[in-house]
Amino acid sequence: MVAPPDTLDRAAELRGEPRLLERLRAEPGTRVVVVREGRVMLDGDAVRRVAPGEVGEAEWALLGRDADGSAVLLASVAPVAEPVFVPAETAAPAADEDTAAGDRAQWVGLREFGGRLGSREGELLVSAIALAGWLRDTVFCSACGSRLQTRQAGWAKWCATCESEHFPRTDPAVIVAVTSPDGERLLLGANANWQGRMHSCFAGFVEAGESLEATIHRELAEEAGVRIARVEYVASQPWPFPRSLMLGFRAVAASEDARADGEEIIDVRWLSRAEIGSALAGEGPVGLPGEASIAYRLIRDWYEEAG
Ligand SMILES: [Zn+2]
Repeated sequence: MVAPPDTLDRAAELRGEPRLLERLRAEPGTRVVVVREGRVMLDGDAVRRVAPGEVGEAEWALLGRDADGSAVLLASVAPVAEPVFVPAETAAPAADEDTAAGDRAQWVGLREFGGRLGSREGELLVSAIALAGWLRDTVFCSACGSRLQTRQAGWAKWCATCESEHFPRTDPAVIVAVTSPDGERLLLGANANWQGRMHSCFAGFVEAGESLEATIHRELAEEAGVRIARVEYVASQPWPFPRSLMLGFRAVAASEDARADGEEIIDVRWLSRAEIGSALAGEGPVGLPGEASIAYRLIRDWYEEAG
């Protein structure tokens, strides 16, 4: 069973209130998460919140409520322009260096935050990055090409021309840790794009009309030539690049027959517990995916539970 996570209060019941964002931006307790180029700032183990007055030009949305009931808004701000040469005698000190230009290293993307944040702060960070990306990319109606209006405090867009509504949807993708029939070995593959020693679980997008189970059987057959005997759901992870939801599974292969497809996957190998243990310790010939990924978690959980 999956334990109930400590989730973000999204305050969805407020989204339809007229002029909500205007009202909340004027309230003294309101906090703002700023997203720029898919990155947010952290304060230790928490996402940094600033006051609405500290943010300049931005696209706004409601992210939810903090633990104390204060509203948390998203402010999606434009990228900072590359520095241009200004003759020294005319250069003025930038007034907003900390908030606008800032030290780029302080801005953290999803790949860097790893497991550092708790589930609530992690959800806030991923939601802010995902929603900012959708607001930025969804400008025109996909049905008729007209410019869209933002509604529902940033959670919907509306086309006045053809009266269609648009929402920040997610694309389901499966990611599968395949074990041998006896449970003693794990099958990992090397993707052609990784160009190195990294091996990971097998993943693929759910196609139109497919169930998750059908996707798993198809992907494993295509990429690794493996027949699957049994599948079990483990956990999911939002992965907004730009808008995936990774659904993690454990599967048992019907046999140890496996071969890489030679196109997307250039190598598949069955790894023993000892080999996985070495790889987790950063040793041996096989590299593993980053700790922030659900693939890493699927591999580590198999190793730890078996040990
Ligand atoms: Zn339209």
